[in-house]
Amino acid sequence: MSEDTKKEVSFKDTLNLPTTDFPIRSNAAQEDKIILGQWEKEQLYTRCFEHNKGSKKGSFVLHDGPPYANANIHLGTAYNKILKDIITKAQRMMGKHVPVTPGWDCHGLPIELKVTEAHPTLRDSELKKACRAYASKWIDIQRQEFKALGVIMDWNNPYKTMNPEYEAQTVRAFGHAVKHGYISRKNKTVPWCASCQTVLAAAEIEYHDRKDPSIYVRFELTKEDSKKLFPGVDVASLLVWTTTPWTLPLNRAVFLKPGAEYVLLAINDQHVLVGAPVADKVCATLGVEKVIVGRCKAEDLVGLQVAHPFIEQFTVPVLADGFVGLDEGTACVHSAPGCGPEDYEMGIRYGLEIYSPLTPDGKYTDEIKPQELAGMSIADALGWVMTKLQAANTLLFKTSIKHSYPHCWRCRNGLMFRATKQWFCELHHHDLQERALEAVENKIAFLPATTKNHLKAAVGGRLEWCLSRQRTWGTPIIAVLCNDCDTEYVTPEMVEHVANSIAQAGCEVWDEVPLTDVVPQGHVCSSCGGKNFRKERDILDVWFDAGVSHYAVLRKNAQLGYPADLYLEGVDQHRGWFQSSLLTSLMLEKEPCMRAIATHGYTVDDKGRKMSKSLGNVIAPQTMIDRLGTDGLRLWVSSIEMQGDVVVSEKLLANVQEVNRKIRNTCRFLLSNLYDYNHTKDAIDPKKLLMIDQYALAELGRVSDKIQKAYDAKNLTSVFHTLADYCAGDLSAFYLDIIKDRLYTDQADGHARRSAQTVCWYILDSLTTLMAPIMSFTAEHVARCYQGADAGSVHLQNFAVVPSVWLKEDMEVKGKKREQWQALLYVRAQVLKTLEQLRKRGIIKHSLESGVTITMNVRSKNMALVQEVLAEVEAAGQKREEFLKEFFIISACEIVEVDEDEYDNLEIEECDDEECEMLLDDAQDLMVKGAHAPGSKCPRCWQWEMTDHKDGLCLRCQKVVARLIH
Ligand SMILES: [Zn+2]
Ligand SMILES: [Zn+2]
Ligand SMILES: [Zn+2]
Repeated sequence: MSEDTKKEVSFKDTLNLPTTDFPIRSNAAQEDKIILGQWEKEQLYTRCFEHNKGSKKGSFVLHDGPPYANANIHLGTAYNKILKDIITKAQRMMGKHVPVTPGWDCHGLPIELKVTEAHPTLRDSELKKACRAYASKWIDIQRQEFKALGVIMDWNNPYKTMNPEYEAQTVRAFGHAVKHGYISRKNKTVPWCASCQTVLAAAEIEYHDRKDPSIYVRFELTKEDSKKLFPGVDVASLLVWTTTPWTLPLNRAVFLKPGAEYVLLAINDQHVLVGAPVADKVCATLGVEKVIVGRCKAEDLVGLQVAHPFIEQFTVPVLADGFVGLDEGTACVHSAPGCGPEDYEMGIRYGLEIYSPLTPDGKYTDEIKPQELAGMSIADALGWVMTKLQAANTLLFKTSIKHSYPHCWRCRNGLMFRATKQWFCELHHHDLQERALEAVENKIAFLPATTKNHLKAAVGGRLEWCLSRQRTWGTPIIAVLCNDCDTEYVTPEMVEHVANSIAQAGCEVWDEVPLTDVVPQGHVCSSCGGKNFRKERDILDVWFDAGVSHYAVLRKNAQLGYPADLYLEGVDQHRGWFQSSLLTSLMLEKEPCMRAIATHGYTVDDKGRKMSKSLGNVIAPQTMIDRLGTDGLRLWVSSIEMQGDVVVSEKLLANVQEVNRKIRNTCRFLLSNLYDYNHTKDAIDPKKLLMIDQYALAELGRVSDKIQKAYDAKNLTSVFHTLADYCAGDLSAFYLDIIKDRLYTDQADGHARRSAQTVCWYILDSLTTLMAPIMSFTAEHVARCYQGADAGSVHLQNFAVVPSVWLKEDMEVKGKKREQWQALLYVRAQVLKTLEQLRKRGIIKHSLESGVTITMNVRSKNMALVQEVLAEVEAAGQKREEFLKEFFIISACEIVEVDEDEYDNLEIEECDDEECEMLLDDAQDLMVKGAHAPGSKCPRCWQWEMTDHKDGLCLRCQKVVARLIH
């Protein structure tokens, strides 16, 4: 063994080299599973729910919007749940009671269709049971998936909209609405298949090309109106275009385009009005020359009555609405509210009759006018209508058209639209809609603030709320119908009675309960006196189901409380769950069910395209976890601005990965230097810390404050950036770099090293708790490393308290200190520039090889501030040169103080690169001269010093080593 290596080995043993079991690279796949197992064993899910109960800090209730239980979770669901988890964990760590009950939306068409596909013969309660099992299966799968994301909610006691208790509450909410007059039953136009004799849901409609008649029909103005508008013209007509002549008997209005110009065309011996922009097209289709004999505005015609083209003594109103287009047809639109979806909307908006005398198998009923149509199928009506039009001389032109038309997905036949009796929530009853708008305006906080307009538009633009669905898998509408005249009968008592049974045995009960149990004995139909009834078979809209969760969950569990502090979902829920929750809450309660609504965007790829199966750009949460680890995925969630899209891009992921690595490494550095530190025994009183350590502790306090405030404001991107900047900048590139030498080489249990360790411990403790809401696994792992296994989960701890260092808590003192240190950091920046020059010239490699002389103009404000810090350093017993040497990580430092005049007269020496002197002249109030430090390199600590020690040890190392030998 050579002399050299012998020395090195022996000195290495005298160093306090860092050591820790915490690995550099995370093995998330394994570590996370171990931690999940511990959480399960420690019953963390239940304990978090109970934690801080009765706390002085109060409580925070986030009401979880229920995802649909029919598939694996996707990135959007994962993102949403993690956001909720971060926010609630942070609130809990602020000392509040934060119970979170997760939920699932279980009823509805997607599950019913899937189950029916697999078991086509199942009906009623058998079908419901199968749907229940199907949803249960997916709930279990999703629950595991959410748990694996590190989401801590009360997983053992979730709410499910299909729980018998929940179903009973949904039924009761309906009963309450009945009692207070919100519920009505009336006609609604729905897509209908005459051959299957059923209503169709949007998902069951297919569009195919089909050939139909295309006819142009005249609706005549009265002679008086015609003359008034167009002197000299006997009769003017509105020219209407339609491809469904069978709906003409059901016409109830003609719509024009508001503000549009209409021209009166002379065609043969007729005068017809069409929209000016379509006049050329119409004439071309009709094969006539365009002869304009008059003009008017839509508004000149609105309010007039026009004659029905073949029903005698029958007129319909002329109205105007923005839905009328100017790109096809005549800009005069035939409207039959009982047999068209858009026509229906217009019917509701303008109070037209929803006239739909049509049977389930596609025939006119006895109520049709003219009576001769009664019993005729709508298919046969075409010929009849054409004959009538010709007889009345109101058919101007006839051809045929091939166009896209809705068809039934089962039998492939073309659909009709037909009005059927449906249950409605009356939005104007007790000013429900107005009260909801008022709540949006004044009672609910929105995050981001602009999203208020989304909910305002959703609530304000709502025409009606149809509550009934002709389906099986859902909460039944408790009511009976007269067999003779179809009149409904429902009372709150009847609903409550059935609800009690449902609470015991689920919604299947409704299929089995005998009628005599529901209808009071001797009850007769209020409309026809009939005595035979049947149970209503419709179920409630699933939005009603999920919407009443405030009533079935928040009101039911005293721990949760009403209203919730926060609802947090994707921006699409303004139309969905936010709206139905708000409306039902104002039906059942005086106050809205939420104090605040936060929304986030959709998941999109790096090109900004929404993720969808058809685009093939869907990213599964697991793909992200495989690449980033679970905490990486969670960190990604925190890095996304809530107001924008939820972007997955290569650049973003690389950045998240880097931040993850940085935070992890910082924790590892801190852990590895605390292996011989016991906080209870070894901590140094904050006021006795070395000055640089005091500064680091004060900075920690500032950062900790900032992060907690950001958590409270749900500004997670600020948390993300502050954490990242703190670890990379303040710690890694500054404080930890500076104290490395002291930690490794100083006397292990001496004041200087313990001072650094004390601050390292505070930083670690703060960092661990501050990152816990986001990096829940890493934080737990780190906590167990320095707190021991018995300390319990970090998720049951509060954010660490950082002791205040600077004499008074006084803002003024703090402000002054900050100013002083800013000045000192400015000096450091100048020194670093000098060192860079030395490095460039090949004079030094490592900064420890250098020494600097700093000439300060003590009259300058900045340098006066620096002097104040240095004076304090000396007062605390540390030499100012020693302090600066450490602060700049160099081996020698000399300070020369000059006043203004002397400073101005200083000569800037030319740098002589072999002589290794430099003068920096761009600073206004100081000059830095850098050179290679004198003496030799201490083999133990690498600092340069003049020494005559036989092994070349510096003075400090000599002392440390000497102590070790004794
Ligand atoms: Zn069909
Ligand atoms: Zn009746
Ligand atoms: Zn040394």
